[in-house]
Amino acid sequence: MGLSLPIFLDNHSTTRVDPLVLEAMLPYFSDTYGNAASKNHSFGQEAESAVKQSRVTLANAIKAKPQEIVFTSGATESVNLAIKGVAEANSSKGKHFITLTTEHKAGLDSFKWLEQEGYETTILPVQPDGLIDLDGLRATIRPDTVLVSVMAANNEIGVLQPLEAIGQICRENEVFFLSDATQAMGKVPLDVGKMQIDLLACSAHKFYGPKGVGALYVRRSLPKVPVTALIDGGGHESGLRSGTLNVPAIVGLGKALELSLRNMAKEEKRLAELRNKLETRLLSEIPESHINGAKDGRLAGNLNIHLPKVESEALMIALREDIAISSGSACTTAAVEPSHVLKALGLADDTVYSSIRFGLGRFNTEEEIDYAADRVVEEYQRLVEFALV
Ligand SMILES: *Cc1c(COP(=O)(O)O)cnc(C)c1O
Repeated sequence: MGLSLPIFLDNHSTTRVDPLVLEAMLPYFSDTYGNAASKNHSFGQEAESAVKQSRVTLANAIKAKPQEIVFTSGATESVNLAIKGVAEANSSKGKHFITLTTEHKAGLDSFKWLEQEGYETTILPVQPDGLIDLDGLRATIRPDTVLVSVMAANNEIGVLQPLEAIGQICRENEVFFLSDATQAMGKVPLDVGKMQIDLLACSAHKFYGPKGVGALYVRRSLPKVPVTALIDGGGHESGLRSGTLNVPAIVGLGKALELSLRNMAKEEKRLAELRNKLETRLLSEIPESHINGAKDGRLAGNLNIHLPKVESEALMIALREDIAISSGSACTTAAVEPSHVLKALGLADDTVYSSIRFGLGRFNTEEEIDYAADRVVEEYQRLVEFALV
């Protein structure tokens, strides 16, 4: 077989840079190395023009205006800027924030930091399928609520939140709406107008672009969202993010997004078929296994599955040379902590500890999925026999 092992099935943690993206980036390290802020010569002008093109690509992708895009070092920074920056700039309106238990740590830990600064955050529970309870949200908004933060697609269970309904509720109550769309960008349609999103975060390495670059969309009108910068200096990015722009990375972000958008519907259909094949095999060959989170309305490449009686750590170690998978979020480095997302679904600890996340992506083939399914079933059966002795 022509398989190259291990097979990468951890595409929620990061993705491979598409060769076409790398090719587009390369000239900006060598020939076209200008500083995009140096407007007096052709080096700077070419760099600026390349940055502008990426800005337009991203703005068009979410139906925003180019001047509403702030380039950052990634989604973690974008989410920090959105939450802390909105808190600081709007503290005269209020100090109350709302988010969900299943959010990414970038958001949850930013809110934790705000708590120490005298702000208050309500962390709403989710329903057993991972979806937001819209009535619960409505009931939680207060006159001093400034911002609601709900991710577009979850990085562990792939669940897609009803952004349009959330945006509607936020707008009616004159509360800003932030969505961490890091997992959704380039995979599902996003429209900040229709969804009434006021701030939106993304990161290039989740859609086949380079690591270390991302963006934050900040609405400029109707309503304008006041944000205070976290990083001060030369006043780049409309004063919201100083520092010389990482031109090659921004070019890569634009190219990666362009490629993702071009093939989005077709690629999502292909991924859903592969995911369903893997899912059907595991569900039928592993007794009492089940999907964590909503089965409908998930990212096409996501499969988060409970395989009873075997700890996911043991299974991952057994499979290490064949497939790269994860038991949850890679973003909580080092410690083997139970997934806060799965716990938030109300799952018992032993279910959480025996759940596995597969993240399928652009470079996975049907042959790889067939092989992965074989190997998971094989190792599961070997381990479950141990567990039953
Ligand atoms: C990966 C991820 C992040 C963090 O992105 P970085 O670019 O690594 O900072 C934030 N939110 C979600 C939902 C993610 O999947």
